[in-house]
Amino acid sequence: HLDHATDRALVEEAVELGLGSVMFDASALPDEENVALTAEVAALCQGRGLWVEAELGEVGGKDGVHAPGARTRPHEAVDYVARTGVDALAVAVGSSHAMTTRDAVLDLELIAALRAAVPVPLVLHGSSGVPDETLRAAVRHGMKKINISTHLNKTFTRAIRDRLAADEKVVDSRKYVGAGRTAVATEVTRLLGVLAG
Ligand SMILES: [Zn+2]
Repeated sequence: HLDHATDRALVEEAVELGLGSVMFDASALPDEENVALTAEVAALCQGRGLWVEAELGEVGGKDGVHAPGARTRPHEAVDYVARTGVDALAVAVGSSHAMTTRDAVLDLELIAALRAAVPVPLVLHGSSGVPDETLRAAVRHGMKKINISTHLNKTFTRAIRDRLAADEKVVDSRKYVGAGRTAVATEVTRLLGVLAG
């Protein structure tokens, strides 16, 4: 899966390389351009058997569409999916990218309203900032794909930092990178349990 591709040429490269899915992010563009370009990219990818996720654009602050205050309106989401033909939709419901604290508040009513209106799976971006209980509630209210990156980066880096601090003599990169990998695997397993619950 290629996440947050903003450049059509990069998507074409992903298609050639045989990737199975792409998230095309034209959310920084004005709505009409977002729709036109996303529809074009979706047709290109689907013609080659790829699954396409997109993000509904909204004029926002410097954090863009996933600023905590940004919201995707259900009727606009329905219209966007119909006009672009995407297979899944990332929506703005209160989370924000790259949060290092887990205290985001999600609009669960909005998730339920979007779920009822939109015919394709909903995707939650910025999930790193969302506490476990709220992630579980987001799934219960209709979120289907949960993107967690920053939280796992934190897990990986902390494990490596601890490993290096615990043994000043370690020079074998397999030893400390392995510690990071194990920590991420353990946390992903735990999170899958949270989302399934
Ligand atoms: Zn994202």
